[in-house]
Amino acid sequence: MTRTLISGGLVVTAADELHADVLIENGTVVALALPGRHHWTADRVFDASGKYVVPGGVDAHTHMELPFGGTFASDTFETGTRAAAWGGTTTIIDFAVQSKGASLRAGLDAWHAKADGRCAVDYGLHVIMSDVNESTLREMPGLIGEGVTSFKLFMAYPGVFYSDDGQILRAMQQAADTGGLVMMHAENGPAIDVLVEQALARGETDPRHHGEVRKALLEAEATHRAVQLARVAGAPLYVVHVSAREALAEIAAARDLGLPVFGETCPQYLFLSTDNLAEPDFEGAKYVCSTPLRPKDHQAALWRGLRTDDLQVVSTDHCPFCFKGQKELGRGDFSKIPNGLPGVENRMDLLHQAVVDGHLTRRRWIDIACAAPARMFGLYPRKGTLAPGADADVVIYDPHAPHTLSAATHHMNVDYSAYEGRTVTGRVETVLSRGEVVLDRGQYLGRPGHGAFLPRSTCQYL
Ligand SMILES: [Zn+2]
Repeated sequence: MTRTLISGGLVVTAADELHADVLIENGTVVALALPGRHHWTADRVFDASGKYVVPGGVDAHTHMELPFGGTFASDTFETGTRAAAWGGTTTIIDFAVQSKGASLRAGLDAWHAKADGRCAVDYGLHVIMSDVNESTLREMPGLIGEGVTSFKLFMAYPGVFYSDDGQILRAMQQAADTGGLVMMHAENGPAIDVLVEQALARGETDPRHHGEVRKALLEAEATHRAVQLARVAGAPLYVVHVSAREALAEIAAARDLGLPVFGETCPQYLFLSTDNLAEPDFEGAKYVCSTPLRPKDHQAALWRGLRTDDLQVVSTDHCPFCFKGQKELGRGDFSKIPNGLPGVENRMDLLHQAVVDGHLTRRRWIDIACAAPARMFGLYPRKGTLAPGADADVVIYDPHAPHTLSAATHHMNVDYSAYEGRTVTGRVETVLSRGEVVLDRGQYLGRPGHGAFLPRSTCQYL
């Protein structure tokens, strides 16, 4: 048995802040105690004086190796989970993709094959349903039984991932009957496609037009429709990557009615804006993702939503494409720019910066980044908190260390940073995953294959 002691730090969870020593046996937190009031011995001691001791981050929305627009997201499960660990995230939930015409099972098997034996930290899987039909609907309960309890549908991307309202309703009904959670990409895809075609016909081909055609109102309209369909089906709803204040208002209105409607946003919507999409010389392509970045004045509403719990989770939607050779596919036609940003390594630091900036409390930082995603997707309290019985996924965080985000120093397999040159206050010092040291003072000690697949229970907010 290996005993590890983390002493002298400020333990921060979603519920508490307390000066406590943390005792770990093998891979599990076994006790917390007042410093100096116990006689614990350990094989390994970390002095966390002056530091925070927090649960490892849970990033519930990543796309390693996602096929998109004729190319693949540039992080593999190996490089992406290593980068996650560098950023203090010890659990990711990625998306297995059902190909049109194939089964959910085939998609899930393919993603298990990509991830198995390669991850540095633990991982779960959601399933993207590209094809809702009798046969795939019948597969849903079996997947839930295997711990794949959430299903992503798209109101965007006609011809690729898109489901029509009838398909969405049927999937929601099945989710309502079986305990599954529908995750929705809420944008009106058919309407957006018309605006894309019209913009290109007018010669508007630059990256900034990506943001202009994917209108906030079309995110809000789809969000409203998704909420009503979920009500009719009697199903819960989780709206991914909310970026528009008008869409957030739809979620807030639903929650005010007491409906089981949940919302996620991402750091890019909190820290970046259409100003970035408008950067000259095609640099704006680095910031092309969907839903798109919005004008800066949407950010205050998102921060407020996070404080008032109208938004519960901050995930990254990590889906990196290199500028050279990948984003460049859309030179002269913004609709051909692969959609997605890198971010899995930056989330914990950016959200800590939000604590420094006064947008969030420390406990709310841990709630939206660790505890709420763990609860939302059936991993709590094994993940997302520090308490006896929890997995020893622990981050020692130095809240005072300045840290400059840059492609020159990050560990994501992508040739640019969406936050290039931005200095934040706070940095990960040590990371444990199930008691094993993955990272310590700038030295990476993890290995592919340590990370294990996490079968999940159903949503714990219901
Ligand atoms: Zn996504």
